Amino acid sequence: MRAWRAANPEASAAASRRRNEAVKADPERLARYREHHAHWKRQRYRTHRSEVRRHHRNSYLRTTYGIEPEEYDRRLAEQGDRCAVCPATEPGRGKKYFPVDHCHETGRIRGLLCDRCNRAIGLLRDDPDLLETAARYLRAAG
Ligand SMILES: [Zn+2]
Repeated sequence: MRAWRAANPEASAAASRRRNEAVKADPERLARYREHHAHWKRQRYRTHRSEVRRHHRNSYLRTTYGIEPEEYDRRLAEQGDRCAVCPATEPGRGKKYFPVDHCHETGRIRGLLCDRCNRAIGLLRDDPDLLETAARYLRAAG
């Protein structure tokens, strides 16, 4: 079976799709699958924690921002391994990765920010005019 799958990747994918559709269409099979799969996932997490976590992280980057983990790494290196705004070299608040700052209208990625800068920009509604006004206000107030 494994050899056949390796030699026939398209036919194998099609067979998997047909089986998945059949399982989805049958509530009893679906319930059995979900029970078994939940068990399998718990077991796998116990034995392959870092691998599973990396997989979830990569999947999050792909589905949420449309980038590969390599692009995240490349951007962070281009920023000198720190926040794009302040000198922070750690994401903050116990996070392992810098939040990916993006335009909420276009989805375009602007850069990687520390948690604090990411929230600060968000609290000022991603508005450069407001941020400049806030800076002028602080400077004028001394
Ligand atoms: Zn920062």
